[in-house]
Amino acid sequence: MKGKVYIVGTGPGDPELLTLKAKTVIEKADVILYDRLVSNGVISLCRKEAEKIYVGKELGEASMQEEIHNTLVKKAEEGKTIARLKGGDPYVFGRGEEEYIHLVKHNIECEVIPGVTSAIAVPAYAGIPVTSRLSSHGFTVITGTIVNDYPITCDYIPRRGTLVVLMAIHNIKNVKEVLLKVRDPEESVAIIENGTLAEQRVILGKLKEVDILVERHCIKSPALIVIGEVVKFRDVLWKYK
Ligand code: SAH
Repeated sequence: MKGKVYIVGTGPGDPELLTLKAKTVIEKADVILYDRLVSNGVISLCRKEAEKIYVGKELGEASMQEEIHNTLVKKAEEGKTIARLKGGDPYVFGRGEEEYIHLVKHNIECEVIPGVTSAIAVPAYAGIPVTSRLSSHGFTVITGTIVNDYPITCDYIPRRGTLVVLMAIHNIKNVKEVLLKVRDPEESVAIIENGTLAEQRVILGKLKEVDILVERHCIKSPALIVIGEVVKFRDVLWKYK
């Protein structure tokens, strides 16, 4: 009998943002495969006897993804129940779909458990709603990193509304240059580091200085950037938290 793989979103950091479904799966899994963004609080929920395998991408992006695929198949063929844990939601820049497809090709049962994405929850914890009837009728989430050799382009950037940029910090000069082709340099931005965690930091400013702020405050991953009118809500929502 083959086992089953659950591709589980674990939320942005605060373990209490885990879904009940995710918690149930983590508590019963024989094997846990987890990324850098999965917090210790979440990992501590797994069984004492569970095999814990760290698969952070800093070990080498391409070869690590192949190794993840192979490990998932191998463990499932041994009949194990596997929880593949991913920060936020598995289908928001999480490559969950690639792993699902690989498992289906190998006739392995698979289920995805959506998670609370950092793109919405991290701004919320910082007092920033991603939409508002008063000022933003939509929001867009983009990546600031290079995907399959394609750097960030204007194609994904709307002129208005809230823009949330993930994975932008290491590439901030390039990201700013592209954003300024579409957006107003005077727009408000919030840079949020370690969102939803005790170490959370929020830096506020203007789009035109976003790269300087990242450098001055030594912002490190994980961090995201929110651009648009909604950033101004922080003044009110933060005070009454
Ligand atoms: N699947 C994840 C996103 C993976 S991409 C999700 O749905 O949240 C990784 C990027 O997410 C990071 O580079 C950062 O931009 C953002 N991110 C994840 N957790 C974060 C956190 N706690 N605080 C700030 N940004 C975070």
